[in-house]
Amino acid sequence: MMQVDQSVHTTLRERLKEIFGYSQFRGEQEAIIYSILAGRNTFVIMPTGAGKSLCYQLPAIVSEGTAVVISPLIALMKNQVDQLNAFGINAQFLNSTLSKAEMNKVKKDTLNGTLKLLYIAPESLTKEENLDFLKKANISFVAIDEAHCISEWGHDFRPEYRKIRGIVDNIGNLPVIALTATATPKVQQDIQKNLQMEDANLYKTSFNRKNLYYEIRPKVDAKKQLIKYIKQNKGKSGIIYCLSRKTVEEIAELLRVNDVKALPYHAGLDPVTRMNNQDAFLNEDVDVICATIAFGMGIDKPDVRFVIHYDAPKSLEGYYQETGRAGRDGLEGNCLMFYSFDDIVKLEKFNKDKPVTERDNAKHLLTEMVSYANLGVCRRRQLLGYFGEFMEKDCGFCDNCLKSPEKFKAQHEVVLALQTVLQTDQRFDVAHLADVLTATSNQYVTSYEHDRLAVYGKGLEFNEDCNFWCSVIKQITIYGYLEKDVDNYGILKLTQRGLNYIEDPYPVTLTKDHDYEQQGADIKEE
Ligand code: ADP
Ligand code: ZN
Repeated sequence: MMQVDQSVHTTLRERLKEIFGYSQFRGEQEAIIYSILAGRNTFVIMPTGAGKSLCYQLPAIVSEGTAVVISPLIALMKNQVDQLNAFGINAQFLNSTLSKAEMNKVKKDTLNGTLKLLYIAPESLTKEENLDFLKKANISFVAIDEAHCISEWGHDFRPEYRKIRGIVDNIGNLPVIALTATATPKVQQDIQKNLQMEDANLYKTSFNRKNLYYEIRPKVDAKKQLIKYIKQNKGKSGIIYCLSRKTVEEIAELLRVNDVKALPYHAGLDPVTRMNNQDAFLNEDVDVICATIAFGMGIDKPDVRFVIHYDAPKSLEGYYQETGRAGRDGLEGNCLMFYSFDDIVKLEKFNKDKPVTERDNAKHLLTEMVSYANLGVCRRRQLLGYFGEFMEKDCGFCDNCLKSPEKFKAQHEVVLALQTVLQTDQRFDVAHLADVLTATSNQYVTSYEHDRLAVYGKGLEFNEDCNFWCSVIKQITIYGYLEKDVDNYGILKLTQRGLNYIEDPYPVTLTKDHDYEQQGADIKEE
């Protein structure tokens, strides 16, 4: 931790207690606050619920002038502003919902320095009149919440977020603190590049939620399975996520006729009903809420015991965020997903009408999700690996660990896969590598003359199925023999472990992929 003045240390602790009522900082909060107070660019990647807001709220309060907080959602801003006001802190937001008089008050309080936090959406930030006034104000620093919105590679890209750097430069030479709850290594790099804060102090905590149990089941007779599951968890709080409003209504109704206290939540409901349903869930008048992903942002119910994805989510980022709402109190949290390839086809159809880059990215996110569902590898290893965290061992607390899909020993296969990566100059993705191994000739294979390589078609001696080789390559990536290139996503390179392996190979235990069709058939017979 940075060297700091004892008096600052004392002031921060006092304010923490006085204003927020906490006697201690959590995790790295204090170090983060020092970093921003020292005028350093600061980058915070922490899971939801870790306490990111305090990391900019407290330094804003103790600094002179006003901190600008950029946030994508009016609802999120309003929540925080209300909460800070209740604590006696002058915080306000600036957006198009304000009247002229309210707007003037905000501006006045900012210019005379009594406003501590000014929340603003990136769209409002780009407006000329707002920019002019911010230039005149004494701004302490800029906080960018939900910073993953900057990256096209994230699950929630907002083009206006890419303008933030230019605007901040326009206001003045200000330290920036960027915060997000999800960032794959690629997204993290993108954010830092775009905000020109490669030099930032980085604070990244583990994404491992040890108390969450991850499970995926084939989506066969899902309604029956769902009711059974909820009856087994009678009286416990749970969230069921569905893709469409229609399914939300249907499932809520299904639960009600089965004597489960459940309500729907989606953006199509009128605001009063929506709010009432949310409150009913928070106050435990109902046990289960059936919702679209609109539900959950900023909701902090500590004792949600299960989160069910009735439909497959669009990305692992979404899946991680949504399942993350279970077991916030550190106690039991069960995360169940019903998976079917039909759902994936549906999601792909949704993507069809999007602009090209957005569509490509959505496809990429979905492919990662499908891979997560299909692989027989420890779910936690996959999930954490996706967010750039390497786990040396299986977790022992997910369906793949406990129900252990069929395993096999591989050695020649692993060597062959690694050699294919080497012989293709470490410049290709899993699909291409599998094509080379199985002699699947296509324009890419021929144009790179990969059909002339020693490894071309060598995989056929072990297995003719392209999917088999894709699975092997993905598994040895999770196990650290290969890694994804951050600059060119999808491209695989050898790690030191991979290089050592080729020199001195040994048997590695791999698992067969799930066959949800087959597993589904088993459920039907039950
Ligand atoms: P995030 O933005 O990371 O999702 P929040 O800022 O919403 O998390 O904080 C999550 C919860 O943790 C809130 O209820 C907040 O009041 C609480 N919290 C934050 N910091 C502390 C702390 N130092 N001690 C106790 N509770 C804290
Ligand atoms: Zn596991």
